[in-house]
Amino acid sequence: MQYFQYRCGQLCAQGVPLAHIAQAVGTPVYIYAEAALRHNYQTFAKASADMGSLIAYSVKANSNLAVLSLLASLGAGADVVSGGELERALRAGIAPGKIVFSGVGKSRDEMRKAIIAGIYQFNIESVPELIVLNDEACALNTTASIALRINPDVSAGGHEKISTGKAENKFGVNIDLARDVYKHARDLPGIEVTGVDMHIGSQIDSLAPFKAALLKALDLVQDLRRDGHDIRTFDMGGGLGIVYNQDEDILPTAADYMDMVRRHTKGLDLKMIFEPGRAIAGNAGVLLSRVHYVKHGTARNFLILDAAMNDLARPALYGAYHAIMPVIEPVSDQTETYDIVGPVCETGDTFATHRRLSVMKGGDLVVMLSAGAYGAVQAGQYNTRPLVPEVLVKDNQFSVIRTRPDLEDILKLESVPDWL
Ligand SMILES: *Cc1c(COP(=O)(O)O)cnc(C)c1O
Repeated sequence: MQYFQYRCGQLCAQGVPLAHIAQAVGTPVYIYAEAALRHNYQTFAKASADMGSLIAYSVKANSNLAVLSLLASLGAGADVVSGGELERALRAGIAPGKIVFSGVGKSRDEMRKAIIAGIYQFNIESVPELIVLNDEACALNTTASIALRINPDVSAGGHEKISTGKAENKFGVNIDLARDVYKHARDLPGIEVTGVDMHIGSQIDSLAPFKAALLKALDLVQDLRRDGHDIRTFDMGGGLGIVYNQDEDILPTAADYMDMVRRHTKGLDLKMIFEPGRAIAGNAGVLLSRVHYVKHGTARNFLILDAAMNDLARPALYGAYHAIMPVIEPVSDQTETYDIVGPVCETGDTFATHRRLSVMKGGDLVVMLSAGAYGAVQAGQYNTRPLVPEVLVKDNQFSVIRTRPDLEDILKLESVPDWL
């Protein structure tokens, strides 16, 4: 988290003290460092440049238009999983020819829009989906390029809810059935088979599952080529993990990952596609929050924040760990152990238990680190809490890139029928 450091006793995002943002925008608020997004993207791009690859940033990790526009300016493509994300990617200026469309349940309407936009590739997850895409392409008098997302049946991912590459997961086509599906696809006039796709999970902390899946999938590529399919693209999906806990996590870097991929795909004449999400956005953002109250109980001390599970769902959803730091650099080494919770009426609204922090009081600011991916995008308005705003920092300046709606904005979407 080199872009979030103490300077003169104040935690800063690049050159901006977080306390300034709290004052100007209020809390809770997500804060992203432009330099971190840029650095993370370029690390991926550089490590894979010699493979003629496409870095299709996984929009679902952080889909703010400003984030996408920045990545577009750096040359990124996009991996989208809905018509809404497709619209965001296009508005951010990502070239349609760099967009791939993934997801197990694309609607007819979403497919049509993506065909008209001229996206690079559909990652197809089932035969019924293939048939609908063929229909839509034929109706538009064109063909749609596809890769089949295969399910290589390997176990991966930091949590059962983000593991996607096991045979019992809903994702992809079982690798043993793939050749039949490709044969079927070849006979569809609206479909052009161009590649193989996989995505085995998220927050993967070692190269072993990537390698196991890749080797299985490359065997399939050889079989498919022998069957007469012109397989030109290979989509590795995303999933590379990031450090959440400085004290415990040891993770392969993007360069390690690319070296492994390069070693096994050399000479195969495949255009490689990568879909990193978390690895680009995760450590580029924090959630800034203010302590409402410190509540001393008999069994626990609670730090009650103004951020809650509706703003950052990962701890409640996956039991995820986020490092938590005070915004004012501690001057004494006195600490206290807290359970750090939000105000929502759910016991699951807990960010951390038994966390040792400098002694805190009501009104103090804290940040949850590594919240740039799967943070703001999963936020909701439970307990009628307005959607959390987002801020982008660059050098010594910052801008609000999503405003906090006021209560009127929320309530005007609802109406009471006049027959009540
Ligand atoms: C979520 C997702 C990604 C991104 O995963 P990360 O772990 O954030 O890198 C890539 N591809 C597909 C198909 C996904 O669903």
